[in-house]
Amino acid sequence: MKKIMKYAAIFLFITVSAQLCSGCADRPAPYSDTGYAMGTIVNSTIYANKNVSEKISEDIMEELNDLENNYLSWRAGDSLISRINKTSGNGGIVTLDDRASLFFRKTLELAEKSGGAFDPSIGKIIDLWGFYDNDPHLPDQTQLKDLLPKCGYKYINYKDSKNSASVSLSSDIKLDFGAVGKGIGCDIAYDVLKPYRSGAFGAVISVGGSILIYGNKPDNSPWDIAVANPRSSDGDDYLGMLNIKDIPCFISTSGDYEKYFEKDGVRYHHIIDPKTGYPSDSGLISVTVLCDNGLISDGLSTACFVLGIKRSVPLLSEYNAEAIFVDTDKKVTVTEGLKDIFTLKASGYKK
Ligand code: ADP
Ligand code: MG
Repeated sequence: MKKIMKYAAIFLFITVSAQLCSGCADRPAPYSDTGYAMGTIVNSTIYANKNVSEKISEDIMEELNDLENNYLSWRAGDSLISRINKTSGNGGIVTLDDRASLFFRKTLELAEKSGGAFDPSIGKIIDLWGFYDNDPHLPDQTQLKDLLPKCGYKYINYKDSKNSASVSLSSDIKLDFGAVGKGIGCDIAYDVLKPYRSGAFGAVISVGGSILIYGNKPDNSPWDIAVANPRSSDGDDYLGMLNIKDIPCFISTSGDYEKYFEKDGVRYHHIIDPKTGYPSDSGLISVTVLCDNGLISDGLSTACFVLGIKRSVPLLSEYNAEAIFVDTDKKVTVTEGLKDIFTLKASGYKK
């Protein structure tokens, strides 16, 4: 419930700032809609006439449900990921359509470039921690020790020939695309918006912690986007504001506050260092990444969270991406390209 409130708050902020910027009488107020897909809140703010906006918003929800049920869910029995997971240990080969082929290409490239800090093969480790159950808990040490060497993106065999692409697993692993799913959702929203370029001037679509900023507002002013405060319980909802001019822009945040439990005063969160099987301990509490692709921004936010600031910088530049890091001392560090467009707002943080 707390999470829903938080996303609702971010949505409200985007909506309010959008309305303020469209104060002139001859400019249409943005259309806003809130729904639920991919296990999270989806907010749409669209500048277009009402009929077009409603249609775009409906199409986005339909596409996100398709993405979840037919591709990414590890619960829906017929989804692509479930079908691949069923081949685990039996050598089966699953054919990929063009969309799925792209997901795998980008995902495996990111796993490789991040040195395995982002690794979509760690589903069984996530299961051991119970982060998707109602009762997350410390894993059984023997089971974790046994699982670690068996997991690894290198066991995901992606083959792409001229006519078809396929994937097979050479270890008994379970794929988990949770770290890129919402970002892929934003890529899908972008595909929905593209044909409406002439009708819809601009839009902000958020799928949980991933956001797409598309097109321009009618008055061409920059988009004000709030970045979540990783310790919002201390006061402010927003860490700060991004003033975005370069579009399309995809923004994703990963933090230790999304899913976690505490035991004996220690916080155990859901972003796992694949090398240890334990919640990553890189000294960060949140990372926000901006770049020109949703899957990459989402995957990078998870990877950078695991890598820590120093090791993230070269990876971010490989993707021409920018980031906002918050460390355990509440020190906020931004990459060069954000220095002029990010304003820290929340109290208790330092630059
Ligand atoms: P959220 O899903 O809260 O937006 P992330 O995008 O960072 O946050 O994704 C975290 C999810 O990704 C976890 O719940 C888990 O399913 C999966 N995951 C955790 N650690 C890793 C990792 N190192 N590499 C790939 N996936 C991970
Ligand atoms: Mg992510």
